[in-house]
Amino acid sequence: MTARVLDGKAVARQIFAEVSQAVAVRVSAGGSRPKLATVLVGDDPASVQYIELKQKNARQVGIESEDHRLPANTTTEAVVNLVGGLNADESVSAILVQQPAPPQIDMTRVVLALDPVKDVDGFHPVNAGLVALGFPGGVEPCTPAGIIELLDRAGIRIEGANAVVVGRSNLVGKPTALLLLKRNATVTVCHSRTKDLATHTRNADILVSAAGKSNLITSDMVKAGASVVDVSTNWLDGRQVGDLGPGVDEVAGWLTPNPGGVGPMTRAMLIKNTFEAEVRRRP
Ligand code: NAP
Repeated sequence: MTARVLDGKAVARQIFAEVSQAVAVRVSAGGSRPKLATVLVGDDPASVQYIELKQKNARQVGIESEDHRLPANTTTEAVVNLVGGLNADESVSAILVQQPAPPQIDMTRVVLALDPVKDVDGFHPVNAGLVALGFPGGVEPCTPAGIIELLDRAGIRIEGANAVVVGRSNLVGKPTALLLLKRNATVTVCHSRTKDLATHTRNADILVSAAGKSNLITSDMVKAGASVVDVSTNWLDGRQVGDLGPGVDEVAGWLTPNPGGVGPMTRAMLIKNTFEAEVRRRP
């Protein structure tokens, strides 16, 4: 078997086109134009690249953007103050603080400082809580929401599937498991202390790997025909790779390329969440 491609780039393009259309319709009807404010502390090259892509994606769909850069030695206080100003700024619909931030920044304080309505990443406990409880109105975090969207648009059935998520971070693993559960999958969450990872992964109709460990998932750990989503961004010999070892594409039924799978979907959902934040603020 050679797996079919879960093409994140192509699906992201569709989502950008849909948001672009929705922004145009809203603005032509006299509605407000959404605005995304991004905050980057320091000059980590990967983070700079991510922020520039996010800014570009916003512009491409007609969303305004502001790019706030702070030096690497910035204090938590300064970031919290900036976030407070953006919360109060009527023109800003959505705020993104790029992670990882330098080690002296207390990201818990920064996230708690965000107005939940403008928390486009869905990291604030109010949003995380609403999503966890299945209450309406919570912002779903971009990477997990992008994974669900990618599965849906490929027509992969989530309801009733055995879904295994490798990783339990607040950023990826935990919210992905919750969204799969919300969609009636039977969900298993694995982590670094899981005994015999392969016994779980081999049972997965949907396998989401977000461990950040190259070659963790070998082909014998994958069920024939499974839908496999490789979230991780690892660097091996200067090349971006995920968690999957060689030959997984021969066993899986569907597979995300890496790069070109979850990354573009994360950015697409950020843009969609920005639009939705403005609609929630000013229906
Ligand atoms: P993280 O906070 O480091 O979490 C990694 C998770 O994997 C932890 O729960 C850890 O378990 C688990 N783990 C580590 N080694 C394992 C092993 N050998 N077996 C089973 N589980 C293992 O990372 P993250 O923020 O969730 O991100 C995960 C990966 O996704 C990273 O490579 C990141 O760069 C990438 N990422 C990509 C996107 C995208 O848009 N493509 C977005 C976000 C993140 P413990 O909890 O027990 O330590």
